[in-house]
Amino acid sequence: MNQRPTVLLIYTGGTIGMWADPRTGALQPMDLAHLEEQVPELGRIAVDLRSVAFERPIDSSDMRPADWVRIARIIGDHYHAFDGFVVLHGSDTMAYTASALSFLLEGLDKPVVLTGSQLPIGTIRTDAKENLITAIEIAAAKDEHGMPMVPEVAVYFEYRLMRGNRTVKVHAERFEAFRSPNWPPLAEAGVHLRYDRAAILPRRNTGLRVHTELDDRVAVIRLFPGIRGSWVRHALSMPGLRAAVLTTFGSGNAPTDPEFLDALREARARGLLLLNVTQCIGGQVEQGRYTTSEALVAMGVVPGADITVEAALAKLMFLLAQEPDTELVTTRLRAAICGEFTQA
Ligand code: ASP
Repeated sequence: MNQRPTVLLIYTGGTIGMWADPRTGALQPMDLAHLEEQVPELGRIAVDLRSVAFERPIDSSDMRPADWVRIARIIGDHYHAFDGFVVLHGSDTMAYTASALSFLLEGLDKPVVLTGSQLPIGTIRTDAKENLITAIEIAAAKDEHGMPMVPEVAVYFEYRLMRGNRTVKVHAERFEAFRSPNWPPLAEAGVHLRYDRAAILPRRNTGLRVHTELDDRVAVIRLFPGIRGSWVRHALSMPGLRAAVLTTFGSGNAPTDPEFLDALREARARGLLLLNVTQCIGGQVEQGRYTTSEALVAMGVVPGADITVEAALAKLMFLLAQEPDTELVTTRLRAAICGEFTQA
């Protein structure tokens, strides 16, 4: 009997599997067979590894909500045959995909580890091999009871495993490209792989339910000093728009300019949901702490606590798809679904 853990590798694209076009020097995705050729070490890991790939691997800047659903479906279709899943993905929008998967895969109790790299796998100084090999080890890891060590969606990058919906890409060049500013790493890889069990979500025994609907009628508005009310009014008047993430200053503060606030009030009066997420990398929104957020409280802007913009956007798309009544989404936003924010 085959006792080796089974892991499914899902290749979607990204730098990890790119090669340089000799004519232009621009990086473009290579297919899975070529990728596997570059890492003969894969054959030496004590894991039964299978793989599937997007028909056309993509740069993650081209990822759309439909692609998140595509990945979720692949995991759902293979869920019972595998102990864990590794998603190879471009780093640029990996935090969005990881966030979306955490909501789409309700009741997940196996590891789904997203990873990628800053340098293509064929290059001498590549960070891809370590990321890939360790991600596979984590996806296969079991605790002393034979249960999956990390039963949640996570991102592995440069010696750190992080909760997927807590990660942000913070650097365009460094190998250490991701951070989880408001939640401790789930594991650190040195000589040993050290898991922080207290940081990992407890296993859910509800069974997996794969959601396949997302509502993309959402927007992100990043505030800046001097932002004009007329511009905000225009942006929030987009036909069909149901919700917007306002990325605010510090602990959730915004200008007190009457025209700006009127634009928000009008949007609220039309039933638009507004979610307040800080522009800061770490820390949380505390509406009402400063007078500069009092008007937001009065008009019913939802405080996002320490959620990332990436997770906020994915959660809104997920909840709006389930709930035709936008006000009910407001209530559901206030509860954490899978560890995406720190609940008071
Ligand atoms: N542009 C690439 C992507 O996100 C960058 C990377 O993979 O790191 O697909």
